[in-house]
Amino acid sequence: MGMEFSSLFALPDGVEVASTTVTGQILTLSLVATAPTAMCPLCGHASLHIRSSYTRRVADVPYAGRQVQLILRVRKFRCDTTDCPRRVFAERLAPFIEPWARMTTRLSQTIEAIGLATCGELGARFAPRLGIVTSPTMILRRTMALSPGPSEPVSLLGIDDWSFRRGRQFGTILVNLATHEIIDLLPDRKTETAQSWMKGHPEIDVVSRDRGEEYAAVQMEAVHCRFRNKYLPLFGPYCWKSGSSDDQFGTNTCRHSQFGSNTLPSFEEQ
Ligand SMILES: [Zn+2]
Repeated sequence: MGMEFSSLFALPDGVEVASTTVTGQILTLSLVATAPTAMCPLCGHASLHIRSSYTRRVADVPYAGRQVQLILRVRKFRCDTTDCPRRVFAERLAPFIEPWARMTTRLSQTIEAIGLATCGELGARFAPRLGIVTSPTMILRRTMALSPGPSEPVSLLGIDDWSFRRGRQFGTILVNLATHEIIDLLPDRKTETAQSWMKGHPEIDVVSRDRGEEYAAVQMEAVHCRFRNKYLPLFGPYCWKSGSSDDQFGTNTCRHSQFGSNTLPSFEEQ
């Protein structure tokens, strides 16, 4: 199989497919590393001396709708550097597979992308259609592991719940609606926590919120959260869904013809 299959499955240089097996919806690839040497992670010297090997199972991105499981034969090398305390080390395949990871980096990145586009629960329901087996917890864990990007002014903010500890505990997720990026994850759903965060971002123009009363209070009390007519055509009622009929905001009738009798929360207009 060798190089041709390596190219087909976009494997990194030095990794080849030894065999393939299809069982139901699972495609299993047995992989071998072919590099003649490996570098000691401690002293950095290359070694030719293979001592032993073991197998490792790693999940990979789906192929033609099938789940992909990699069985990787990992070789252990002897370090020949006299004063190196690491006598034996396993060869590493990073960044394709990080040490100790149970999935390839590209699968991890795919799950992160699903998490950023949806949320834990929705993502876990959607992922199997792509041949990816995951869970809400895994999606949130991967999303939270993303390093925060450079701090940018936030004009359009989305606030919603996110669940961790398998739905037993909830926090607050803050999303920049202009870039569709997660800005921050707050450890709870308290009004004070979200308010404290928003006070550090006076540039916010519009907030799209969950129906939760806590977030409604955040909007009402944050004086810098102001309504601008120009965003209405973009978000319309979605942004301003006011929840139950006994809406605690009080309501204003929209003066924009395209929204007719829609009601809007009482925001300070600038
Ligand atoms: Zn060494």
